Amino acid sequence: MDRLPITPLRDWGLGLEDSLNIFGPCSVESPEQVMETVQGLADSGVHIIRGGIWKPRTRPNSFEGVGSPGLKWLKDAGAAIGKPVMTEVANVKHVYEALRCGIDVLWLGARTTTNPFAVQEIADALEGVDIPVLVKNPVNPDLELWVGAIERLNRAGIHKVAAIHRGFSAYGKSKYRNPPQWEVPIEMRRRHPEVPIVVDPSHICGNRELLASVAQKGLDLDFDGVMLEVHITPDKALSDAKQQITPERLKELLAGLVRRSPDKDDASFHHLLEVLRENIDDMDRRIIDLLAERMRVARQIGQVKKDNNITILQYSRWNEILQDRLSYAGPKGISADIMTEILQNIHKESIRHQAEVMNTADA
Ligand code: PEP
Ligand code: MN
Repeated sequence: MDRLPITPLRDWGLGLEDSLNIFGPCSVESPEQVMETVQGLADSGVHIIRGGIWKPRTRPNSFEGVGSPGLKWLKDAGAAIGKPVMTEVANVKHVYEALRCGIDVLWLGARTTTNPFAVQEIADALEGVDIPVLVKNPVNPDLELWVGAIERLNRAGIHKVAAIHRGFSAYGKSKYRNPPQWEVPIEMRRRHPEVPIVVDPSHICGNRELLASVAQKGLDLDFDGVMLEVHITPDKALSDAKQQITPERLKELLAGLVRRSPDKDDASFHHLLEVLRENIDDMDRRIIDLLAERMRVARQIGQVKKDNNITILQYSRWNEILQDRLSYAGPKGISADIMTEILQNIHKESIRHQAEVMNTADA
């Protein structure tokens, strides 16, 4: 995989080491609100203060941000505790105003990352400017768009880039506001380990209760940082009130997080891990052998159906399989969601084999 030209966090010139904590309000609302919130963050371990100035709201009639005057309020609040500040830019006008006001770091919102035209215009406007830019994942789980936005910035000479994982919008009920679909940032990490990833539990959760577990999960996946929305009076926040927490609550949440390291220089640890992993490797091979065996039987069924002119799929049988396997798997501790996905995929592969048998002339 080609590496992207990304500057490591420690070389961003912001006094970062190898982690990145971003805290601050969803929106800048007033000079007092942002100043009091930020002062509450002075001893929180924050590296960059966040604050939205132009808010991308799904529907009109919601608070759309205070606009340009808020840039100075944000900057002053950061200066009060000696920390850099960042805001979201969604068009070229935002970029110019943020730069004019000395905003230290920019981020692209999830709705912007979905739009290559907008990303390109912003990248062009930043040509020759040395400023870090964080890129939220697009609202839809499309890794290519996410990487594409980073590449557009890189091509404009912006190398201080990190990704923010804020979850993906979904239709229907979920315990999350934006389900995390961890496999997407995990694949980003596998393909581009050079891109730092910051987890944004606030926008994934949409509520306060789940924040700590999502933040912990991000750390356990060895992401590089956490972004959390903090407000001096969260219940009165003009945007995202349900997911914001006070500076005090933030500090409790952070104190409860466990930071584990991805590796350890210890022979017995490595030996133990190796033994367990060999076990897993062996089981994976057995699963693959069983799957191949299952496909052989599926092909035989395909032949029988073909000889009798019967369709590949009988919905009642498929329903029966699902119900039966789910009730078998449940007591063994396998989640119904994951089991359903596995079965759907196995079934898809069986259908592919049967279709091949059905639609190939008999020898
Ligand atoms: C935000 O960070 O306040 C925001 C609007 O986020 P997103 O682009 O992830 O919806
Ligand atoms: Mn928000």
